Formats: sequence, structure tokens, C-alpha cells
Amino acid sequence: MKQSQYFLKTSKTAPSDDVSVNAKLLEQGGFVQKAMAGVYTFLPLGWRVLNKIENIVREEMDNIGGQEMLMPALQPKDNWLATGRWAGLDVLFKVKSQHGNEYALGPTHEEIVTPASLPIISSYKDLPLAVYQIQTKFRDEPRAKSGLLRGREFRMKDLYSFHATEEDLQNYYDKAAIPAYQKTYKRMGLDAILTEASGGTFSKFSHEYQVEIENGEDTIYVCGKCGLAKNKEIFEQGVKCTACGSASWRETTASEVGNIFQLKTKYSKAFNLAYTDREGLKKDVIMGCYGIGTSRLMGVIVEKFHDDKGIIWPESVAPFKIHLLALKGAEKQVEEIYQALLKRQIEVLYDDREVSAGKKFADADLIGIPYRAVVSEKTLAQESIEVKKRSSDKSELVKMDKLAEVFPG
Ligand code: ATP
Ligand code: MG
Repeated sequence: MKQSQYFLKTSKTAPSDDVSVNAKLLEQGGFVQKAMAGVYTFLPLGWRVLNKIENIVREEMDNIGGQEMLMPALQPKDNWLATGRWAGLDVLFKVKSQHGNEYALGPTHEEIVTPASLPIISSYKDLPLAVYQIQTKFRDEPRAKSGLLRGREFRMKDLYSFHATEEDLQNYYDKAAIPAYQKTYKRMGLDAILTEASGGTFSKFSHEYQVEIENGEDTIYVCGKCGLAKNKEIFEQGVKCTACGSASWRETTASEVGNIFQLKTKYSKAFNLAYTDREGLKKDVIMGCYGIGTSRLMGVIVEKFHDDKGIIWPESVAPFKIHLLALKGAEKQVEEIYQALLKRQIEVLYDDREVSAGKKFADADLIGIPYRAVVSEKTLAQESIEVKKRSSDKSELVKMDKLAEVFPG
């Protein structure tokens, strides 16, 4: 992509209404634009990052048998009345139509996925099943804040699993969901801490995945011995670790990037989702649900990986692999290098703008693409390109004919 033609302008001024690092760097870097409190446009550069994140999530959910689908954001009121959440869920967005009808804007999708399963699941032979979607969610949060960390409109992956027995749900939860979640975050360069939290109305705990960040909204206590954590809301002084029995805890702040729940029969009961077992008896379907906040993750990654000059994207989620900078006098040769990189299907942002070298360097640091490749008259004299990792201070001269070795397609 040629930067001179890209729907992108960086900005020198930080947002005045949000002091969080992710809001500042993502807005200044031209990744997102605030439409109003808690609602963002993902500009082309930011949309590329979000897609990378969501594709990692997609691959890992496919790996544990999840089948992707797409449910509606605009939802029938009756479904929410059936579960008691029309009145019971404080963050539910309710929409009145001009014809007098009322709808909910989906904050989560149990009210759709459960009735959608009625024609699919009727026998033990139909189970287990898992479906998921990656979609825009709506929540009337009292306080939208911290850039992408807490929005009123945000992106989430939600997977729902259906089982014949509680043992089968527990097995899927422990052997499929938990390892897949760990792997998902690892692939983005994040250490997510498995954290016990309340909200497990139907089991003792629900589990959150928390990433430690400065000024995170959540306070968690991490076991000094095994690394399992507890959310502050359920934490009592002197309590022992569920996993290892230790009572030494470290307090820290974090952001919740995922949440897994055993719903058991709450929603299947509300919608009469039942199956016939081997003996011909009718039983409620057992359910689990598994969320990942994909847009929040984008914010958390920025909170974790930045310096005073800008973002330092992990390669797996970076919008481009190489930021190619053409300095004065090298434009013609850079065009050839750019075309050669494209031919090898390397994702490259080519700064071909007529601006100063200083501006190009500053923008490259702000945007945070993993490799910066500078071509100038000076490097050309040595038939080379100057390559620098965003995460490092050292640059090296790479001979033109060695470029394919350094950046294999
Ligand atoms: P929180 O406790 O942060 O309000 P939650 O427990 O209500 O979140 P879930 O219903 O578990 O959220 O949603 C699954 C995931 O979606 C969360 O783990 C989080 O990563 C993300 N998420 C939830 N609310 C928001 C929001 N307002 N903005 C951005 N992401 C969110
Ligand atoms: Mg949660």
C-alpha cells in the first residue's frame, strides 16, 4: 500500500478526552477514530490489525470444533423476555421502532443461539456441538472509557457449546476451551492469566482471562506459587489457591480479555432446548459459553507493547510486516523494491509521500510496523537497504540481493 494514497493521516495532538495509552496511540497513529464516547471507526490501518487478531481467534476456535456463523445484532424482545434479561440486564440497549415495536441490540447471544438450536438438536446423537461468531456487540455501559478497552459498541468472539452431560461440558471446558484460549493469547504475544471470578451462577466459578496492564480496570490476586489468579470481587484475605493450596498472593491490575462460563441448563430451560437420551428420556441440553473481546484485545496489545515514540506491534497482529521508507533521491529504486516485495506477497506499507525524512521516521515509530526499511542515496551507494526492527535500536545494512533471504515471502 502506498502511503500517499492511503486513507490515513497521523496526528501530532493526543485526544483531549482520553488519557489511556491505547486511545492516544491508536488515534494519533490513524488506526481508529472516535465517533462518540465508546464508539469507534476502524480505519483501514486499524481494521487490518483487528482482522489479524480475529483471524487468530477464528483459527483457534476452528481447531476446537467451533463452526462459525453469524447471528443478528437486532434481536426480538420476546427472546429477552423469555430469559428475564429484558428487565434484568442493566446494560441492554433497547431500541424502539417508529412502528411501536421494541428490539434489543445484542450484548451477547444466548437469546438467539439457544432457540436457533431447536431445529438442530433433538437427540443425544446430535451432541456435542459448538458454534461461534465474531461480531459487533452493543452494551449501554454507564462509563465508556480507555479507548478500545470499554466501548458501547465493540467486537467480540462468542462461542456456545452444547452437551448431553455435565461431564462432557467439563471435559470440553478443560481440555478444549482452556488450552485454545491460552494459545490464542500467546499467539498475540500476551500472557493471559487464568482467573477465577464470580458470575458462575451454575458452577462455583467462571473463568476470566486477564492481562496485566498498568491502571487496568480489574484488580486480581495472582498465586505466587502456581500462577492461577482470583478476581478481587471474590477474594477474601487468607483464602487458599484452588489449584495448589498456597496462600501467598500478589496483587496487580489487569484487563479482562476473555471469559468462559458453564451456563449448564439456564438457557436451554428458558427455550425448552431438550434432547432424547439413549434410554428415550427427555433431558435439558447442557451449555457453555466462551467470549473473547477482540477489539479490547487490540487496545490491550497497545497498552503492553509501546514506547514513548509509539506502538510496537507483535508481528502476528501487525497491520503490515515492513514499513518501506523512500528518502530523497531514492524514489525510483524504491518503487522497484516495493513491486518486488508485493510480488512475493509481503505486506508492505510504502511511504512514498513528499514529506521530510524526519516526519517519515516519526510516523514509522508511531505506527509501529515490525520492520522499517529505509532506502536513501546513501544506502543505494552500497546497494543496500537499512533495516531496523521497531523493537530494537540497532539497524543493519542488507544488500539488495539478500532482501529475499531476510524477508522470505
Ligand atoms: P467486563 O467485566 O469487562 O464488563 P463482561 O464480563 O461483562 O466484561 P463478557 O460478557 O464476559 O464481559 O464478554 C466477553 C468479553 O468481551 C470480555 O471478556 C471482554 O474482553 C469483552 N468486553 C466486554 N465488555 C466490553 C466492552 N464494553 N468493551 C470492549 N470489550 C468488552
Ligand atoms: Mg466477563
